[in-house]
This record gives sequence, C-alpha cells and structure tokens, in this order.
Amino acid sequence: MTSPPAVAVAEVIGHLDAALKHAVTHQPRSLQRELGPSEIGCPCDRRLGYRLAGVDPVNPHLPWLAYLGTALHGRLAADLDGRTLPDGARLLAEQPLDVGEVGGRTVTGTSDLYVAGVVVDWKLVGTTSLRRYRAHGPGHQYRVQLHTYGRGYRRRGLPVTHVAIAFLPRTRELVHRHWWHEPYDERIAVEALRRVEAIAAAVAAAGPHVLPLLRTAEAHCLYCPWFRPGSTDLTRACPGTAGLLTPVPI
Ligand code: SF4
Repeated sequence: MTSPPAVAVAEVIGHLDAALKHAVTHQPRSLQRELGPSEIGCPCDRRLGYRLAGVDPVNPHLPWLAYLGTALHGRLAADLDGRTLPDGARLLAEQPLDVGEVGGRTVTGTSDLYVAGVVVDWKLVGTTSLRRYRAHGPGHQYRVQLHTYGRGYRRRGLPVTHVAIAFLPRTRELVHRHWWHEPYDERIAVEALRRVEAIAAAVAAAGPHVLPLLRTAEAHCLYCPWFRPGSTDLTRACPGTAGLLTPVPI
C-alpha cells in the first residue's frame, strides 16, 4: 500500500474549514429563495418585500445555529417518524405542506411533526431564549408559523386542534426543555397571509421602488439577508434599525 502524499496539517485544516463553511452555507434551508411559513409572520414589511421582489441577498453569514437546528430536525424525524402513541395515533415527521397562496404562487413549507391533531415544531434555543420563551411564550412570528402549518394540514383534510412548540436547550440537558401550546386558530394564518399578499401586490405594482416605502421593524436585522450598514439604496439593501452592531464576518 502506498502512503498518501504528506500534506502540511495547516493545509488540511484549511481545506476542512472550507468544506465546513460550504456545508453550512449550502444546506437547503440556507439556499431557500421562496417565502415560507417561517417568514410569513416576520414583523418587518420591507424584509418580506425584498424576498417577494427577488432582491439578491447582500448580507452573507455562516448560519451555524440554523445548521445545528437542521441536523437535530433530521435526527428527530429519523427517530420519531411512523412511531405511534399508546392510543395508536401515528407520528408524521417532516411533512411537506401547501399552506396558501401569495401573489398567485403557492406557499409551501415542511412541518416538523403532526400527531393526533397537534402540529408540533422543534426549536433549538440558547439559554437566554429558553428563559424568555418559558416566561413569555413564543413571539408572533413563531405562532404564525405554527398556525400556518395547521392550515396546511387542514387543507390536506387532516384534523388540527392544537399547535405546540418544544423549545429544546442547545447548551443544557433535555430536562430543561419547555413545551408551549395553544388551540389552533386558522384566522391567525389567514390574517398573516393577507398581510403578505398586500405587500406582494405593492411589489408587483411598483417593483423594487416600493421597498423604501415599506414599514420596517427590528427583526434580527444583523442576520437579515438584506442588511447592509449605511445603505442608502433601499431598493437593494437596508441599513436596519438604529443601534445595530456590525454583522458577524463569514
Ligand atoms: S435590516 Fe432590519 S429593518 Fe431592514 S429589512 Fe432587514 S429586518 Fe427589516
């Protein structure tokens, strides 16, 4: 057997680091270009406008935490899909759904889990966020996401009674998990879709020129794909809301 060519360890690490970055930035969720249920409840109209107008992202970052979350989702789906509860109800993981229409296009998404009329989403969160969700529950965007999935299941003819989120600790043991749930309310999904439809109509009528006129709101601006500090051309990039730090370098 011939020995592999000797390569300096620094070179190996350099190649591995590049491979790691490529994997993180090229996972399907990082490459998603279509509006999905997780974004519909975003409080910033302009951010939705950029997405709907198809404006190229300008703020690349390494979505490491999203990568970890996606890995966990895959593992949970493999472990849970097809299992049954003691009463015989079957768990359905990673279900593709059609949740409604925006701008004449179908909005699709993938729901983490459905069982016995309950729509479940996994959220892998840090300690501070976990404490906040335990004290105050999820924000509007997460609720919209869940109820929108609920609508998708209803459109498939399945009963939906509740939506639930399992907040799973990223840096602590599972014993610290927190479950939240509430009754399913289709009006939350319909109202959110209507709002996005209005933004889509404005974008369709005026093109990117309408983007500077859209209302903004802090929506994790540092990680917004269209955040560029000091931007003055709001048709292509947004300076974000006041008091932001510089983005994390890629
Ligand atoms: S940078 Fe912030 S304010 Fe600007 S579009 Fe993105 S989320 Fe909205």
